[in-house]
Amino acid sequence: MNIDFANLKHQYQLYKKDIDANIQAVLDKSNFIMGEEVSLLEENLQKFTGAKHAITCSNGTDALLLAMMAIDIQPDDEIITTPFSFIATAETIALMKAKPVFVDIEERTYNIDATKIEAAITNKTKAIMPVSLYGQPADIDTIQTIAKKYNLKVIIDGAQSFGSTYNGKTDSNLGDISTTSFFPAKPLGCYGDGGAVFTNNDVYAEKIKSMRLHGQNKRYHHQYIGMGGRLDTLQAAILLAKFPHYKQEIKNRQKIATLYKEMLNKEIIKPLIMQGRTSVWAQYTISIENRKELQQTLMEKKIPTAVHYPMPLHQQKCFSYLNYNENSFPIAEKSSKRVLSLPMNPFLSKDEISFITSNINLI
Ligand SMILES: *Cc1c(COP(=O)(O)O)cnc(C)c1O
Repeated sequence: MNIDFANLKHQYQLYKKDIDANIQAVLDKSNFIMGEEVSLLEENLQKFTGAKHAITCSNGTDALLLAMMAIDIQPDDEIITTPFSFIATAETIALMKAKPVFVDIEERTYNIDATKIEAAITNKTKAIMPVSLYGQPADIDTIQTIAKKYNLKVIIDGAQSFGSTYNGKTDSNLGDISTTSFFPAKPLGCYGDGGAVFTNNDVYAEKIKSMRLHGQNKRYHHQYIGMGGRLDTLQAAILLAKFPHYKQEIKNRQKIATLYKEMLNKEIIKPLIMQGRTSVWAQYTISIENRKELQQTLMEKKIPTAVHYPMPLHQQKCFSYLNYNENSFPIAEKSSKRVLSLPMNPFLSKDEISFITSNINLI
């Protein structure tokens, strides 16, 4: 059996006709920058998420920068976030010259532990940035309540969770601003770099639209220091071809996650989805003590796995200036040693899942 982790090749073959036609149409029109496909995609994203504004951009990292620029983050401001995420979450805070302040995670969801946020608030705190890790939103209600009490903004890093829900709302329609990524391996991926920012706030939306175009309000007139942060028309055209299938793909991912849960032994620690939330299963991640051994065994059977993430952010060399220690965030540190992501894509068959789980159950 030859199992593919994200199986982008199969997905392309399935939708090839529409994807190729959409690419060809952009080539024929040569409307490579801010073509009509970009605004058409944004309309689709608004409808899908329920957010009033969907503003596409160059990638999920720039989406975070645009969000922070919109709420006017200044040097020395503090933003509370999770130490257990992809580097971009905290890297962008630091790039804004603000300070990432980490709070440990929950053991079973791997998301920021909202009950520990209040203790980390200082008079410099400006925002809370939860990440919807592996595709499941964090405890947004508790986070919003704290944000309201201390007059903080909430920016949701939804790079892994496009389409997930919290009490019936997509996580692009929560917080003050929410972001996502269309990196190829994310649940909804393009064929290069891409991202989006979502908000219900008209003022932020105008600012983000301007910021992604070098802060211009009129051609060659610049009201802000912005950036070159547009989504390519070609990427928008590819996303438009994939978009009609996305709801079904989420359903498939959810079915596959259920199969994993049913077919893996009781002893294996499986992901927990909290009441009132859904995950789009960017990853199906188990927790296991002898990870290295299991990964090796699975590799011998040609079953690909991945570790998201082997080192928490507070232990990264680039953040040594923050002076955290070993044991600053014990749950994030323990998780980084134990998590293992199994193959996850909308096209895994029951036979493949059975093959994967039976090999894991042996250990
Ligand atoms: C992928 C990812 C990003 C960055 O997205 P890019 O499109 O690769 O820039 C940011 N945050 C998280 C949590 C991610 O997983």
